Amino acid sequence: MTINIFQPSLGEQELAAVAEVFESNWLGHGPRTARFEAEFAAHLGVGAEHTVFINSCTAGLFLAMELLELSEGDEVVLPSISFVAAANAVAATGARPVFCDVDPRTLNPDAEHIEAKLTERTKAVVVLHYGGYPGDIERIAALCRARGVPLVEDAACAVASTAGGTTCGTFGDIAMWSFDAMKILVTGDGGMLYLRDADLARRARRLAYHGLEQSSGFSNAKVSHRWWELDVRDFARRQIGNDLTAAIGLVQLSRLKDFVRGRAEVVARYDRALADVAGVRLPPPLPDGHTSSYYFYWVQLDAAIRDAVAADLLAAGVYTTFRYPPLHKVRAYASDEVLPNAERAAEETLCLPLHQSLSETDVRTVVEAVRGAVASRRAST
Ligand SMILES: *Cc1c(COP(=O)(O)O)cnc(C)c1O
Repeated sequence: MTINIFQPSLGEQELAAVAEVFESNWLGHGPRTARFEAEFAAHLGVGAEHTVFINSCTAGLFLAMELLELSEGDEVVLPSISFVAAANAVAATGARPVFCDVDPRTLNPDAEHIEAKLTERTKAVVVLHYGGYPGDIERIAALCRARGVPLVEDAACAVASTAGGTTCGTFGDIAMWSFDAMKILVTGDGGMLYLRDADLARRARRLAYHGLEQSSGFSNAKVSHRWWELDVRDFARRQIGNDLTAAIGLVQLSRLKDFVRGRAEVVARYDRALADVAGVRLPPPLPDGHTSSYYFYWVQLDAAIRDAVAADLLAAGVYTTFRYPPLHKVRAYASDEVLPNAERAAEETLCLPLHQSLSETDVRTVVEAVRGAVASRRAST
């Protein structure tokens, strides 16, 4: 039996919610979607007119770049340690992703890393919250405000993270969360889009559903006696969520605090048990005033042993990974640019299993496997 690195918690409550949707005989976008949007907005501390339930975080990234009306010659600054969808969404508009370096320990960019890449062509900044840690988001948001550059937060890792009492995702102008199968709050596939500007949120809603004005769309058909007529203002795709996934999301949202509490306990256990292991560096402590969703738990090892330790752990039934391989090194975006911290982190960092169902025994198994693998690989180098 392998210990999973990520694992959702789904049970009777989610099943009952899905059964209700079946009984209602309406699986599409409807009342449960609206409720999920409203409850997620409340969780963020914003009004319900600012959130749109969509079918993935990736769709949200592509929508965001469309809403920013990027075009050829524009630049968007993002950390090289980002999920590839962020860069793809930029590139799809014809704009150029410009990668910045990150802090070598948190794997999040500091405001200075972003600032070094801003030019008069910069049309947006996209940051994520590595592993659920808010990072330097307060200073990055201040920098973007001062420069008049829109800030997009890929908050996929940060469903319950806060900095200075503000929820991650609400520091900037646009944000998106992922509810895919490997996240903390899961709906199978799904995502939430947040737009600070309510007009932009209405436009996002149109773009997520064929470019249809809402009143002529799925929700209420009373614009005219010819209810079948279309009011299409934008070329658009279909990226909306539905009541089946929203029903699961509503239950998961109600359980989110417990999930994060469980993850925090696992993190505390790892911190205690791995603190004295020679050759293992732990994630830096959260700064005062920050809370994390604890999406990743990552350790940093000498680059010479990292891969061998990962192989030993897999052989011992402990699955690990590294997120996210630097984008300035992947074929589609490769350049001669050197981003030393991102490159070093990619050689030294290993994400260990972290989810709310890890038992004390599982944690002990992981810790003992890490201790053993690191000690034996260090001895043989
Ligand atoms: C998972 C993830 C995504 C993609 O989410 P989907 O819902 O699968 O599209 C985007 N960004 C980050 C940081 C992620 O972790």
